Amino acid sequence: MIELEGLTKRYGEKTAVDDLTFTVRPGIVTGFLGPNGAGKSTTMRMMLGLDRPTSGDVRIDGRHYDRLKDPLTAIGALLDAKAMHGGRTAYNHLLCLAQSNGIPRRRVDEVLDTVGLTAVARKKAKGFSLGMGQRLGIAGALLGDPRILMFDEPVNGLDPEGIHWIRNLMKSLAGQGRTVFVSSHLMSEMALTADHLVVIGQGRLLADTSMPDFIARNSRGYVRVRTPQREAFLDALRAAGMAVAEVDGGALEVDGVPAERIGDLAAQHRVTLHELSPQQASLEEAFMQLTAESVEYHAHGAAPSDRRDGTDRPAAPPGARAGDGWGAGWEGK
Ligand code: ADP
Ligand code: MG
Repeated sequence: MIELEGLTKRYGEKTAVDDLTFTVRPGIVTGFLGPNGAGKSTTMRMMLGLDRPTSGDVRIDGRHYDRLKDPLTAIGALLDAKAMHGGRTAYNHLLCLAQSNGIPRRRVDEVLDTVGLTAVARKKAKGFSLGMGQRLGIAGALLGDPRILMFDEPVNGLDPEGIHWIRNLMKSLAGQGRTVFVSSHLMSEMALTADHLVVIGQGRLLADTSMPDFIARNSRGYVRVRTPQREAFLDALRAAGMAVAEVDGGALEVDGVPAERIGDLAAQHRVTLHELSPQQASLEEAFMQLTAESVEYHAHGAAPSDRRDGTDRPAAPPGARAGDGWGAGWEGK
């Protein structure tokens, strides 16, 4: 179990982590989600005692990291894959780690086998691909057979096979009753891996919820409408009190109203419809909206609720889809 209480980190004027309070529980995969620069790595470094909190507290199974008797047997972490002693062989890298932490030598062979690096164990890590480097980093995290594991953006830059492998590894570690905490800036990745979600934006907690709850609460239902009498129907929808957004390509998107009511309204106004289709917003959109609001809050000082009128959503137009540039919008600094 990892417990954070009011955890805060400032670098000069910049608040990287802002009053985070949440608990990471055993037996499940907890996804730590947020755009680049949200404060995920800083939070993880504080969990490991690599960075000192400005205020607040983080405990690993009830203790501060530096009070743990054998830290590697309590918590294993994969932080930055680049931070590898490239000159050593994979085997020697792990052996050094084991010897300096009182871990038996046989664990080195075991973890090499777990991560599938046995065949290249005597090769220098310098020549490893990104994927092999990640596997070696994970072997290091597993070395002490810890009850808690933490991975910072473990799938970054990996090929689909590597991503699949890491996903399954995390699930199986959680299935063994361990605490698994994994960060990502990709909702799509978390949706496939995590049982529970902690979402942050600009260092602040935005959501701490089970994955099914997040989906239920955040996937917005709306209806897409196409009509050649667009302006007239737009007026009619708004006059009827419906929240409408105009999207690229000339479609209208109507929030929270059944398709039947929109069809009836069209008939009343003798408006021809070319499309009337109920839609479910993707998790990507929900996530984008959640974090875009936190970004906009800082940028313009407007309360998030001010933009929930459904008629004007510059931060996250309902027509936006994963893949049409939402990744760029994530760099909410
Ligand atoms: P994430 O891992 O979510 O991408 P980080 O924790 O790396 O976010 O960074 C959070 C914020 O803190 C960013 O704005 C980053 O520029 C800033 N930051 C991180 N480390 C430092 C540091 N050592 N000095 C100054 N600013 C930092
Ligand atoms: Mg990071």
